Amino acid sequence: MSEIHGPGGPVPHIPDDVTVVQFMLDMNHESRPVAPSAQTNPWLIEDATGRMISYAEIRSRTQGLANGISSRWRISEDDVVCIFSPNHVDYPVAVWAVHRLGAIVTAANPAYMAGELEYQLTTTKAKLLFVHPWSYEVATDAARAAGLAPDRIVLFDSLPNNSCVTIQQLVEEGHSKPPSFTERRLNPGEGKTKLAFLSFSSGTTGRPKAVCIPHYTPIANVIQMSHLANLQTLPWEERKWRPGDAAIAVLPFFHIYGLVVIMHFSIFYALTLVVVPKFNFVDMLKSIERYRINQLSVVPPMILLLCKHPAVKQHDLSSVHMIMCGAAPLSAELTWRLAEIFPRARIGQGYGMTEACTTVSFPQNEQKVCTPGSAGRLIPGIIARVVQPDGSHAGYNKPGQLVVKGPALALRYLNNEEATKETFVDGWLYTGDEVMINESAEVFVVDRIKELLKVKGFQVAPAELEGHLLDHPDVSDVCVVGVPDDYSGELPLAFVALSPNALERVKKDPGEAERIKATLMKHVSDTKVHYKRLAAGVEFVDVIPKNPSGKLLRRVLRDRAKEMKEQG
Ligand code: AMP
Repeated sequence: MSEIHGPGGPVPHIPDDVTVVQFMLDMNHESRPVAPSAQTNPWLIEDATGRMISYAEIRSRTQGLANGISSRWRISEDDVVCIFSPNHVDYPVAVWAVHRLGAIVTAANPAYMAGELEYQLTTTKAKLLFVHPWSYEVATDAARAAGLAPDRIVLFDSLPNNSCVTIQQLVEEGHSKPPSFTERRLNPGEGKTKLAFLSFSSGTTGRPKAVCIPHYTPIANVIQMSHLANLQTLPWEERKWRPGDAAIAVLPFFHIYGLVVIMHFSIFYALTLVVVPKFNFVDMLKSIERYRINQLSVVPPMILLLCKHPAVKQHDLSSVHMIMCGAAPLSAELTWRLAEIFPRARIGQGYGMTEACTTVSFPQNEQKVCTPGSAGRLIPGIIARVVQPDGSHAGYNKPGQLVVKGPALALRYLNNEEATKETFVDGWLYTGDEVMINESAEVFVVDRIKELLKVKGFQVAPAELEGHLLDHPDVSDVCVVGVPDDYSGELPLAFVALSPNALERVKKDPGEAERIKATLMKHVSDTKVHYKRLAAGVEFVDVIPKNPSGKLLRRVLRDRAKEMKEQG
């Protein structure tokens, strides 16, 4: 066995001459179960207010916003626009308006600190910034530092005593003005190279990088998932994906899982998305009850809460029909426990990655509960290899690096040839994940070979934290690793070799060691988003182990961290 194909192929035609917005708002693709104009359920519901938003309204707002943007700023083909917001009913409108102009979206985590956003703005050379009022202060600091003029900030909702233009004002302006741009259909094949998104991922090594995602690839992934859903032959009440069902959009749209699977696939598959800006577990339970939610797309910490939180028993969650978990490993134990608590629900895992423009494996149609520990089955159109360290291909049920090919792969990292060459090789994507695949094409993630940590499903790049810690005068060398954690999956821990000066101070006053640890933790928490904090602490070592050519022996320290955790 050298290559394993996702069952259920071939995939229906994937258009390569349309943009994402044209695919979502203007076309009736054969995989789409209901034509948008025939859809009777709303596309979106605003969680807090219950406001329902139809296809017609979204299409009209998208058109208005695109015209409003282009008449004010002349944003056009291949300019980059950053969206810095939690989930909002206008989030898809903002994304698709940018695409109407032929421009590119880069979505940023709204919890970022100013330096993190500045990095994204400067890396992508963003020319316009959409901001939620909650993130306004940080956004203005970052925009200033990145050289983006204050009049290039658009607010999702108005702020008192603030003169920034809002999406609503732009929509109205756009509707009242003559067309200021000409939207074009792409040339045949152009969808494969024209960029739609610059999403951030650290890949196998180094700092976060912008992943170049052309229009064709999210379209392809949506078609792959929809094709799989269309292959369901079970009676309606047993199907996992059912047009008309209500799904909760509590995972963030800025991350590829939220962007492609929750926003684009769910809407394409005619689900109604209840849009939740901020995750709060008990509020989520209330929303499930209020809107009779059928589909939950979640990450492992949420599954843990569903299994253990006492409030679960106080809510009627009987509408939940399907629970899909992804972005990080879900243990077999939690899967069993969840199946006990939700005996009527279907339960499955998906595995994906920003560079794969999302889904590689997905829950199987016929299985009510996924094989515990399995991250789902390869989806139609995916070809996988399991590559051993010597380059040979592993057989079924043998571990090796997952290497995949398919229509939805990203193109490259922006301005980073070296990382591109390591990850995208002759049309194959080297995932940096160690997996086993069985005869049913089910994927079991065994370990992560790459440096990346995943905290609550979010990426943490050790290199980013190491670079930041090295800036501190007390640090002479550092290595950040993940320590396993029941709730978060893993938590960052820094092994630090102290500078000579810091060592002197510790020798003179043993209490200084704890003060330095606290200072270093603060050094990170002052400038990095909450999940990058050194929540597992700081440990001092004499030297950071390296091989003779100076390469960090990360695994040695990772194993040491694991031992420390086991010894309590
Ligand atoms: P991201 O690009 O942020 O989606 O992160 C992708 C990485 O998340 C993958 O390369 C895996 O390491 C991890 N990941 C995603 N889904 C799963 C899953 N179901 N089980 C285990 N790890 C996962």
